[in-house]
Amino acid sequence: MVSVPVYSAALLSDVVQRLGASLDLRHTLEEVTQAVVDRLGFGLAVLNLVTDDGDLEVVTVAGPDDVRMDLVGQVQTAEAWAQVLAVSQQRGRLRFLDGRTIDEAVSDVAFYVPDIDVDPRPDTWHPLDALFAPLYGGDGALIGVLSVDLPHDGMRPDPDDCALLEVFAVQAALAIDHARLYSELQESLEEQQRVQAELRHRALHDPLTGLANRELLLDRLDQALGRARRDGRVVAVLFLDVDHFKLVNDSLGHGVGDELLIALAALLSEHLREVDTAGRLGGDEFALVLEELSGPAEAIAVAERLIVAVREPLQVGGEEVRASLSIGIALASPSATPSGLLADADAALYRAKAAGRGRWEVFDTEMRSAALAQLALRRELVVAAAGEEFRLHYQPIVDLRTRQALGYEALLRWQHPTRGLLAPAAFLDVLQDSHSDSDVAEWVLGRACADAATWPAVRGRPPFVSVNLSPRQLSRPDLARRVAGVLARSGLPPERLWVEITEDRPLDPRHDIADVQRLRDLGVHVALDDFGTGYAGLTYLQRLPADTVKIDRVFVSQVEHDPVSRGIIGAVVDLAAVLGLHVVAEGVETEEQAAVLLELGILCAQGHLFGQPAPLPSAGPVPVVVTAVLADSFPSELRRLQAALAAATDVQQVAELALQAACRSVGADGGAFVVVGADDVVQTLCSVGWSRRYVEQHRTFGMGADDLLLVRAMREGRGVWVEQSQAASFLPEGAHTDGRAVLALACTPVPGRERVLGGLVVSWTDPVELAPALREHLEALSQLAGSRLDGLPAGPS
Ligand code: C2E
Ligand code: CA
Ligand code: CA
Repeated sequence: MVSVPVYSAALLSDVVQRLGASLDLRHTLEEVTQAVVDRLGFGLAVLNLVTDDGDLEVVTVAGPDDVRMDLVGQVQTAEAWAQVLAVSQQRGRLRFLDGRTIDEAVSDVAFYVPDIDVDPRPDTWHPLDALFAPLYGGDGALIGVLSVDLPHDGMRPDPDDCALLEVFAVQAALAIDHARLYSELQESLEEQQRVQAELRHRALHDPLTGLANRELLLDRLDQALGRARRDGRVVAVLFLDVDHFKLVNDSLGHGVGDELLIALAALLSEHLREVDTAGRLGGDEFALVLEELSGPAEAIAVAERLIVAVREPLQVGGEEVRASLSIGIALASPSATPSGLLADADAALYRAKAAGRGRWEVFDTEMRSAALAQLALRRELVVAAAGEEFRLHYQPIVDLRTRQALGYEALLRWQHPTRGLLAPAAFLDVLQDSHSDSDVAEWVLGRACADAATWPAVRGRPPFVSVNLSPRQLSRPDLARRVAGVLARSGLPPERLWVEITEDRPLDPRHDIADVQRLRDLGVHVALDDFGTGYAGLTYLQRLPADTVKIDRVFVSQVEHDPVSRGIIGAVVDLAAVLGLHVVAEGVETEEQAAVLLELGILCAQGHLFGQPAPLPSAGPVPVVVTAVLADSFPSELRRLQAALAAATDVQQVAELALQAACRSVGADGGAFVVVGADDVVQTLCSVGWSRRYVEQHRTFGMGADDLLLVRAMREGRGVWVEQSQAASFLPEGAHTDGRAVLALACTPVPGRERVLGGLVVSWTDPVELAPALREHLEALSQLAGSRLDGLPAGPS
């Protein structure tokens, strides 16, 4: 039993109170050493705590500043401490290191050796003296050591001093133990709270983008509506959807899709104010809650800014992706509910997408009923796709001069059980947003090819069928394989299938163009649909491997009155001629339009004038006023050629322009520009529409001039008109191999000042009846080409 002198009892209780005053660990540790210096009569107290490794680390020091700085953080190994124990004496529960007797062995243990004189009297404090109080925790384990030094009286401790320190050490150890436990508890409560906070965060946020999820967004919206009711300010919900996001996912992969969403989320956050909330509702759908707005215009301004901002190319997964957003805006009324407002914004979004995407719409009540109808439609479509409610109607694409059907465009119809026959405008958007899209697209392709395979030939030529490809179909990597499969199953030759591609989004140059090329490699004819309304510019025609351009009906419908439409169509025709593309005009409704189109050099057209879409291909109307129309178009064709020739710089260009003009204006299906050398070597300078094999054969070959009509005609400087019956014998072997027999042929020499420079040879699969007028016109064209050729440096011999 340790006896504590009465005089010290008050002091001790005072000290203990001080120790117990705080549960803060740091504070408690400091109190322990400070109490020793303040109250227990020592100038220095060093508190070591046992570390996880069993070493002793100095955690607090009370005493002279320099000593404190030196010692805090120093570590003594467990072995060094064992050595101290070994050489020190037991004093109750304390250990006393007698500086007068210890040898150098312990000197490498880090000690503080005060700078004091050695007093010869044996009970005075020696510089190497030290007194240690081991500290035991509640469970009896050593938790640290308190060492004291520099007694104020300069004397070694007597038993009373030791007893006091011993009791103090017990209290100090307990206080430390408590504070420690408490801090551990505190910490564990904190890591727990953090986990809870994290879980809460995760439950309310979208893991991909970190934005609020639907639940949190609705909650914020609820609060915002409450505030708005009080302060009367405007709250708006913007519902955003990435246009054609499925295409990004399908063509560039989900990784890129995810990165695009992350980049968009960052962009949204950038554009919002502190009070606004951005959330992701799933997929590519985002919503914004905008608060404290002065009015609807401010919400619209935000939508406008976002739409413009996303048009900048985003770097996503090493790819440059251009996104486009459609936005629906709903403004809160006093009675608005969060989910109602969100649904309204969704309905407005739907309207924005239907109106062409990349734009915003503000909700009105009409939209609500439209949205409900769309919902119903979506459900009905699933049933329609599974059953047999879809039909194809066919609309003729005709030769403008003869009005004869060259082929038919397949147009989708839905035989709705209650609403009757629906045109695509009523359901195509919903369909293309749904999972039934590919099934229906596949059905259209299969049905159209199977139907077309049964169509009889008209004047020796069976009509083609033209099928509209949906954007999603186009983005599927196996498109060409599927088309090849459908062709094989239906038995339709590839050249009798046209596919129509709509430019309603910027095509990806690497993927889409390669896909289109694969289709052409199969022998399928590719038409660029609705040209002039989508993203496709004139330069785009050059890049896309297409065979035909279909000029959209917005230009055609104005063409009789509007010089701008006419100018646009003229430009497309010119460019198409240079690029070797066919042109089809869509939506021709009047004779006036047909006449102007012919004059502009267009030979193929589609529209109500020639035939409505119908369940079966129709025979098409009887040709009317062809002669007059044709003859009318000749002068303008000559003017156009003259203008084009002015820019030509070599023989080849002149030959090509003359040939194209000739074919176009006389409605020829093919032709060649041929020159005959001095030794009767025939050379084809350029050709259109003829089989490659035939042209190769004609590139150069010598020939007995007398028996070849063409050579004779050219050398004699006169035109020949080869009628159907003679034509086959006139042509060399192999000319028929592309399946399109040449039925009638005209050769017109191209004369220079002194000699014949070449010949224009044109051919028709359908004989044309305007021989004298055509002859004159061809001669006029060849005169023009001749005078231009004459002025140019020598061409091929
Ligand atoms: P489109 O490819 O431009 O088809 C031509 C549309 O113009 C057709 O409408 C046709 O009936 C209409 N039309 C034809 N001649 C005239 C005319 O002289 N005047 C006027 N005002 N309109 C004319 P439809 O059948 O309602 O098809 C609308 C659009 O739906 C098509 O436009 C096409 O983009 C799309 N579509 C139709 N069928 C399919 C399909 O099977 N698959 C895909 N992906 N899209 C299709
Ligand atoms: Ca079309
Ligand atoms: Ca079209």
